[in-house]
Amino acid sequence: MKQNEIMKMLYDVQHPAKGDKNIVELGMVEKVECEDGKVTVTLAFSRHRDPLAEYLIGSTKAAIIRHAPGTEVEVKTIIRDEAKKKPAGLDLGFDEISKVRHIIGVASGKGGVGKSTVAVNLAVALARLGYKVGLADADVYGPSVPKMTGTENDQPQAFLEGEKEVIMPLEKYGVKWMSIGYFAKPEQALIWRGPMACNALKQMILQVRWGELDFLLIDMPPGTGDIHISLVHDIPLTGAVIVTTPQAVALADVEKGVNMFRNESIRKPIFGLVENMAWFTPEELPENRYYIFGKDGGREMADRYGIPLLGQIPIVQSIRESGDGGEPAALSDRPDGLAFIDLAGKLAEAVKPFDGKSE
Ligand code: ADP
Repeated sequence: MKQNEIMKMLYDVQHPAKGDKNIVELGMVEKVECEDGKVTVTLAFSRHRDPLAEYLIGSTKAAIIRHAPGTEVEVKTIIRDEAKKKPAGLDLGFDEISKVRHIIGVASGKGGVGKSTVAVNLAVALARLGYKVGLADADVYGPSVPKMTGTENDQPQAFLEGEKEVIMPLEKYGVKWMSIGYFAKPEQALIWRGPMACNALKQMILQVRWGELDFLLIDMPPGTGDIHISLVHDIPLTGAVIVTTPQAVALADVEKGVNMFRNESIRKPIFGLVENMAWFTPEELPENRYYIFGKDGGREMADRYGIPLLGQIPIVQSIRESGDGGEPAALSDRPDGLAFIDLAGKLAEAVKPFDGKSE
């Protein structure tokens, strides 16, 4: 094989954090060598322990083997001297999450299914069960944690520790909260969707002094785009929970979410599906269930993908009202509050086999 043929194969290797540009156009391919049928590729990174290094090494090998099956491939890495100096204060190391036992992504294929409502209530319910819990609201399209927890007028403290900027989470209802909403006004939220969104989100997770936690939930942005892939690559998630509603269209989106976590390069366990708005129950007739979005769509989807159905949450006026009022439903002993407590118990149970196995 000639070097330029191999170079062409490497055009297939896209960098998920760089707008999916490939490693050749990004100038990361330092050297390609071919000797006795063995191919050695040297990739240049601009920093030590680049969280995407392993992924890019794997993708490089896979790209060559896909085009030329049976080839022996070795990928070496170097750190370029001219590595860009990182902006002051930015430190995306894993120190601040080193005492977090489990990081769990709360995801949904599309917006409006109640992902944030479920994430916030799960956090409160886990805390009520005695776990140490934090929640990072990374939903760039509508950070809702400040409103749902009644902390929209609070401002997290940030300070410099040596060269590193550390952000203190807010604490309320026994949970540590962080949200991009504390830093950007809703009308500024657009800027969070550009290329800077990724780093800002990671900073909001990795530079926060979480301390010792059993669970750190990440309220992920809805959908399965670039930001998500980069987030799930760079944050050492234990696994994920997927929220859906029973409507067919929401369920089709679930498939994308499931595929994202099961993707070869990500391979994170999905602890379960949460079917939100599973039925409507009027406040005054708590025994009545109206399946306005169809019945058991979530259960069917869970079965199809071999994922446990962790819980079904009804549409109840009080869930919306408590969300809007900053006092999550999971604080109450009403049936809707207890539904979240039950869900939290099931999640804790599902994560147990992964104790001590987090990256
Ligand atoms: P997402 O995060 O998926 O965009 P949200 O959690 O922001 O969705 O929920 C969208 C709206 O639906 C909010 O007004 C919320 O209060 C409401 N909502 C979510 N789940 C329920 C529920 N089970 N019962 C009643 N209202 C709900």
